[in-house]
Amino acid sequence: MGEPTIFEQIAAGDIPARIVYETDTVLAFLDANPLAPGHTLVVPKEAHERLRDLPDDVATDLWAAVDELTPRVEDAVDADALTVGVNDGEAAGQEVPHVHVHLVPRFDGDGGGPIHAVAGSRPDLSDEELDDIEERIET
Ligand code: 5GP
Repeated sequence: MGEPTIFEQIAAGDIPARIVYETDTVLAFLDANPLAPGHTLVVPKEAHERLRDLPDDVATDLWAAVDELTPRVEDAVDADALTVGVNDGEAAGQEVPHVHVHLVPRFDGDGGGPIHAVAGSRPDLSDEELDDIEERIET
């Protein structure tokens, strides 16, 4: 076993956090460096690095918590919208190696971008390449 992640330490009560939701398997707390008021992280209590590592029952609980919390977070800070995202892997910007879903309240004219802003240059894919990708994901 490696070092416990910072989020495991929060789940264990060893590091303080502003906890807004808790079940046997899932915890949500305010981000320590919020991108907006109400920026919340939803995490499984068990340490799993990537979405692909989550056991089915934990994934179900995690996404149920996200579903429950999205309106609560948005309404709590009187936001106009919410960006929901996961940096799933280092190349996607994941810094804490413990699955976490960001709920970032958004406000009209807040100067932020859509999810589309996270990618660099867009690929120009041929029909063959699209066919191939479609097939690989399907199977
Ligand atoms: P990532 O880049 O891995 O998707 O995001 C990690 C997030 O965790 C960041 O938004 C960061 O502010 C937050 N974070 C890191 N350490 C702590 C901590 O000790 N407590 C809380 N509440 N948030 C943290």
